[in-house]
Amino acid sequence: MAETKTRGQELADALLCNDKNGWESVPETERKSAIRFCDGYIRFLNECKTERECVEYAVQKAEDAGFKPLSKVKTLKAGDKVYFVNREKNIILAVIGSKKTCEGVNVVGAHIDSPRLDLKPNPLYEDTGFAYLKTHYYGGIKKYQWVTMPLAIHGVVALKNGKKVNIVAGDEEDDFTFVITDLLPHMARRQMEKKLSEGIEGEDLNVLIGNMPFADDKIKEKVKLNIMRILNEKFGIVEKDFLSAELEIVPALKAKSLGFDRSMVGGYGQDDRVCSYGALQAILQTEAPEKTAICILVDKEEIGSVGNTGMEARFFETFLGEVIRLRKEETDLNVLNRTLAASRMLSADVDGAFDPIYASVSEKRNASYFGMGVGLNKYTGARGKSGANDANAEFVAELRKLFDDNKVRFQISELGKVDEGGGGTIAYILANKGMDVIDCGTPVLSMHSPYEVTSKFDVYMSYKAYKVFMK
Ligand code: MN
Ligand code: MN
Repeated sequence: MAETKTRGQELADALLCNDKNGWESVPETERKSAIRFCDGYIRFLNECKTERECVEYAVQKAEDAGFKPLSKVKTLKAGDKVYFVNREKNIILAVIGSKKTCEGVNVVGAHIDSPRLDLKPNPLYEDTGFAYLKTHYYGGIKKYQWVTMPLAIHGVVALKNGKKVNIVAGDEEDDFTFVITDLLPHMARRQMEKKLSEGIEGEDLNVLIGNMPFADDKIKEKVKLNIMRILNEKFGIVEKDFLSAELEIVPALKAKSLGFDRSMVGGYGQDDRVCSYGALQAILQTEAPEKTAICILVDKEEIGSVGNTGMEARFFETFLGEVIRLRKEETDLNVLNRTLAASRMLSADVDGAFDPIYASVSEKRNASYFGMGVGLNKYTGARGKSGANDANAEFVAELRKLFDDNKVRFQISELGKVDEGGGGTIAYILANKGMDVIDCGTPVLSMHSPYEVTSKFDVYMSYKAYKVFMK
């Protein structure tokens, strides 16, 4: 027999926030969809460890779904699907809407670069019979996390003759790998007294790649020569070719389901490939939207969105301008500004999830939690909202309605305590151009580490959020 509710309980139901954990509150079919969606996501994480690999993956999937390269189309009409690749490192995909472009577009923007170690231009050296590669880390890392773990090299060498050599090594199962060594505890008394930020120094992040000399007494650096001999046989490169290369050292770890209950995903590069994957799946499934739907997968977010493949560059405006021209819409001088001002965007980037082991840096009432859905950050920034894009209340209200109407579970939080947290995304860049923008992404544990963790429920809800937003 159902108990009748007290007046207080009725009031509480009507007036107070009482969100339940997502796994508990959605039907079984939805739980299964979340698990299934993440099977594909885990495969994507294992296939794509660099921005170039993500672009290649996206182009393949886009072609399969009927998207055409923008450079190959002569006109555009409602329902058409196009994509544009910028220097193999970022990509824009769009499904043309029935409304005019200047009435506004719906953008989901995520980034496909992740923190890692880049090889220096002169990386290869030999010391005491060991061959090493010198690195310069990319993005915000905790250096001590990158030693004594299997590492792989992914990237490209551009040759003088205009050809490119793709290099992937150290990642194959049952084959070789690489590592950065650390001091044994027995001899680490002084190292252990240092601050955590100084225990491992940037200049010591040298990757161990060989130890076998080339047998020839006329040669000084025999181990280095032997390594170069192998590289030349395998990839056809010589030492000078490193000068024009982009080679990234990434964890040689497989992404997997995490936990006995398989409720989570563990893997490298989930910031921000989790939102990138969701945004890509969403645009691939978008058909005939009212407003043009756009997915941007961008490079260089982790180092400040700079350079010609970062969000600060003008490739997005160039793309929009081309869409307007190919649709034969009016092209007065102000049309691009009008389009931007009428447009909306979800800045699809990860959020730092509440971690009970490090609870003291979060404000519990405004943190994001695993299993509570996609995380919205009305603003990022820290210590007085400095540097933040602060989404307009009206835009947040629109999204609340959209998500509630479409059963997208979401939570709104901020990153860390007022004087503690804060972070940047691409949100402010598009907001500065006049768009309504809010950060909207998946909560992550151990963000920027070699093995980040997400909740399958939140991964799935992020994708659902992007999908309904593009529709
Ligand atoms: Mn990010
Ligand atoms: Mn990041």
